[in-house]
Amino acid sequence: MKPFSYTRAESAEAATRDGGAAGARFIAGGTNLLDLMKSEIETPASLVDISRLPLGGIEAQADGGLLIGALVPNSDLAADPRIIARWPVLARALLAGASGQLRNKATVGGNLLQRTRCYYFYDRVSPCNKREPGAGCAAIGGHTRIMAVLGGSAQCIATHPSDMAVALRALDATVVTLQADGDRRRIPLGGFYRLPGDTPQIETVLAPGELITGVALPPPPGGARQAYRKVRDRASYAFALVSVAAVVAVAEGRIAHAALAFGGLAPLPWRSAAAEAALIGQAPSRPVFAAAADALLADARGQGENDFKIPLVRRTLIATLAELTETR
Ligand code: SF4
Repeated sequence: MKPFSYTRAESAEAATRDGGAAGARFIAGGTNLLDLMKSEIETPASLVDISRLPLGGIEAQADGGLLIGALVPNSDLAADPRIIARWPVLARALLAGASGQLRNKATVGGNLLQRTRCYYFYDRVSPCNKREPGAGCAAIGGHTRIMAVLGGSAQCIATHPSDMAVALRALDATVVTLQADGDRRRIPLGGFYRLPGDTPQIETVLAPGELITGVALPPPPGGARQAYRKVRDRASYAFALVSVAAVVAVAEGRIAHAALAFGGLAPLPWRSAAAEAALIGQAPSRPVFAAAADALLADARGQGENDFKIPLVRRTLIATLAELTETR
């Protein structure tokens, strides 16, 4: 591991100041960053420890939603009775991620910012544009089982690994931040992550030193049912091959609300307005669900080893919608 300096932030303002220095990284749970540092995939000049900041609460909001502090452990969030009762898709997604020990340590903010699990990103002898801009991408033409079928570029086809972020995307969550100049920002999760394009090393719209202080969760749509379905290579402690977060309401026999987000398919938690539009106003049926899958996958492209993801997510989406709407 390369040498680095360490400071413990006494306030969020001090954290943004120190975190804005060249080569600085925030650390809280450290469940991903420490592994990356040991492998010298990440070599920060300084670590700014934010783990003692008062960002560990879950507060009810006037609109009926919640403000979740960035330092809330994943385990605590999954066990919160309000989350279980009103945002069960989030509790399910959290419990589908990592292991109990990791969930006890990992935080909400860190979960959002975890790095891809692309094999080549972690293999320092392979070219990787995300690790070393301009080096090339060993995944393209290499092993692609876990790679993206939507949203990739000629520079990077890695997927985003978070389950939590997929559920938050379906729930229209907003990331709350504090910037180095003292201003606060509220960034809808749909605008938080960047597609890889020509700069896959830049993964979010966060500015240097900008600190995630929380995640705002709006109240769930009235009457909606929620589900998170994850397909993976083993029953626990594995990243999604594909996953579906669905929030669906049916009123008077027609689908009145549909929010669908997908993991394992793309470089960011993927949402498809076309798939949702194919459902709204329709009576639930398997042909309608298949039309939504067609809309989702119109631009999907496999890379060989990951071609299976296209029919797999199609079946997973249809099964999830059938479960939520009790369609045979
Ligand atoms: Fe690196 Fe992205 Fe290519 Fe993986 S897919 S090797 S992360 S550039």
